[in-house]
Amino acid sequence: MVAFPEKICYTFVYTKNIESANFPWKGCGMNLGKKGKHSMDKMQLKALAKINLGLDVLRRREDGYHEVRMIMQTVYIYDRIFLEKQEQPGIQVKTNLYYLPSNENNLVYKAAKLLLDEFEIRGGIAIDLRKYIPVAAGMAGGSSDAAAVLFGINRMYGLGLSTEQLMERGVKIGADVPYCVMRGTALAEGIGEILTPLPPMPPCYILVAKPGVSVSTRFVYENLKASALPFHPDIDGMREALTQGDLQGLAGRMEQGNVLETVTVPEYPVIQKLKDTMMRCGAQAALMSGSGPTVFGIFKSRQEAKKAFAVLKRGHLAKQLFLTTPYNRRAQL
Ligand code: ATP
Repeated sequence: MVAFPEKICYTFVYTKNIESANFPWKGCGMNLGKKGKHSMDKMQLKALAKINLGLDVLRRREDGYHEVRMIMQTVYIYDRIFLEKQEQPGIQVKTNLYYLPSNENNLVYKAAKLLLDEFEIRGGIAIDLRKYIPVAAGMAGGSSDAAAVLFGINRMYGLGLSTEQLMERGVKIGADVPYCVMRGTALAEGIGEILTPLPPMPPCYILVAKPGVSVSTRFVYENLKASALPFHPDIDGMREALTQGDLQGLAGRMEQGNVLETVTVPEYPVIQKLKDTMMRCGAQAALMSGSGPTVFGIFKSRQEAKKAFAVLKRGHLAKQLFLTTPYNRRAQL
């Protein structure tokens, strides 16, 4: 059990289904709750990661952005964020990862500034960010941190913004932020900001493996041949499978589920190795998330997933490994 000064959290979640090679809260029960509606001085939040069950690119727009169609799924892997009001104006950020910015370049800073400025909040805020979601890995870690800070400041200061209003503000920070505010299963279109909620992903176990290579999202999109892709994922078929609650139908369509693999897999052979290993270990599907390099595998049984976890751990193909589940609760204000 980890003791915190205040036990107020983003949502009610339990860790009993999570295991990880580097996750410090394995097995700890979070005593959450107490959703005070108005002003409070301290708050702790969980910022959850996402995976892409499908990712298609329709075209490159004239402004350089890519039009996408993606199926997003929140998973129960998270960063922890502690917020505390300060009497002195200003935003202080500290993080457990030395290589992350702790200035205005951190997305948590941007999120805090956006609301403090808009609502002319006097005084400042201290943000303690403990990162566990793999960084620059296609899991929207930074966007989720920003979403959590928007959510937290809205509640701490009793700003009264609705989920939709938080999402509108989130898109100013990044295209994935609105989805991270919303959470659950969703279709993301446009540049990722046009969201349609989808039926929840059927229960399963998800093995997440981040290899020791770094992939820049920019590099991937710059090298993508958007007008000559060798395949397009069956996003509508995946939607249908979700509506039917059909895990096998969903997994069957994930074989060619992410067009960004056309850039990353030739460049980083470890991605294909991770996928193959997961499939050999009984995964229903194994796919790269976002622009990678993180790979996730979908398993029907906990036993098989645990076995695959052990195989990957022994093989040293991944630097970070998580065994987790889908997270299907929407944001609750
Ligand atoms: P996406 O899936 O949305 O492409 P990602 O997983 O590829 O996201 P992030 O981990 O969100 O990438 O971060 C990418 C970069 O953003 C990092 O290299 C880092 O320097 C910068 N950054 C700024 N704020 C944060 C934050 N709070 N957490 C992680 N990275 C951050």
